[in-house]
Amino acid sequence: MRKKIFSSGPSQLPHWVLTHMSDAILNYKNTGISIAEITHRSEYFLDILHELKELIKKLLHIPESHTVLIVQGGGRLQFAQLAANYLTPSQTAAYLITGYWSQKAYEYACHYGNAVAIKSQERDFYSLPILHQDDIPAHARYVFMTSNNTIYGTQYHTLPSCNIPLVVDMSSDMFTIQRDFNNIDLAFACAQKNLGIAGCSLVIIKKDFLQKANDNVVPILSYQNIEKHQSLYATLPVVNVYSALLCMQWLLSQGGVEEMDRLNEYKANLLYEEIERNTKFFCRVSPAYRSRVNVCFSAIDKVTEEAFITFCKRNNIVGIEGHIKSGGLRASLYNATSQKDVAYLIEIMQSFEKEYAI
Ligand code: PMP
Repeated sequence: MRKKIFSSGPSQLPHWVLTHMSDAILNYKNTGISIAEITHRSEYFLDILHELKELIKKLLHIPESHTVLIVQGGGRLQFAQLAANYLTPSQTAAYLITGYWSQKAYEYACHYGNAVAIKSQERDFYSLPILHQDDIPAHARYVFMTSNNTIYGTQYHTLPSCNIPLVVDMSSDMFTIQRDFNNIDLAFACAQKNLGIAGCSLVIIKKDFLQKANDNVVPILSYQNIEKHQSLYATLPVVNVYSALLCMQWLLSQGGVEEMDRLNEYKANLLYEEIERNTKFFCRVSPAYRSRVNVCFSAIDKVTEEAFITFCKRNNIVGIEGHIKSGGLRASLYNATSQKDVAYLIEIMQSFEKEYAI
């Protein structure tokens, strides 16, 4: 029996994607070769990569002013790649610290140049600061932020605008919410939440900003070099990129990002309502900043939390534990998580409340 998967990434993939992957692993489109055996220089792969980029542009309404890159590696590699392209010890960038991942991005940037942390004024990470222009050093090359904090379950439903180039880590909410890319200079997302299998990332860069990248960046990290080679400078993970194409085809068939945006808000609201109602659980996150994709919540005490995790396992639910840094519980409701999956989780929370009534 297939489990109900609420993991934060690698996360649930649509069943349609899994069946197509499974066919392609044995015999890619009747070529007599597995997708895992196809070279990244073949016509087959060039077609996959081209279609993937075109679909991404269409689904996200990427303006002509921007370009799309597919790169090796995940989110942390982007923390380093970004800084390698735009920071030297005499250059400055600002980092809005709203959680674990933006803190990590800031620490990585410190290896390259003058990264300045704009600290959250909040006591904890369950609320989000508003970005003020005055907080950003005037000579900053960019300001970095995380649109959705996967670990603490907070999300900027709208992104700030400022007169410094804006760089956004959208690893956990890319394709789940419609954003206006005109105001974003660089956005990236690792694949393992809404794009496909872990191992590659998507980078969307304004062409003007790309031109401003530093010279002398080691070729494997240089955004300009990767753009020049149309994302094929080094070997891309072919199977992973193919999974991304399937995910994008599936997303289009479901009504695209606009439909996911609507559905994700609906699914998350159902779950937050149950958390508020259920006597065994509560949510620390300020209502205005609650993430629509990573619903982080807590049980009333540690014993109840452990009992609930065991109860979930007995009922075929996996991935409900919170991140090791924050503890508690977390249900990740990415695009592949259906309304039915959320209804099932709610049903289990209600049964738990009855069975564990004291
Ligand atoms: N940024 C965010 C918002 C994340 O949730 C994660 C974790 N998947 C990362 C960066 C780091 O990604 P990776 O594990 O691929 O380095």
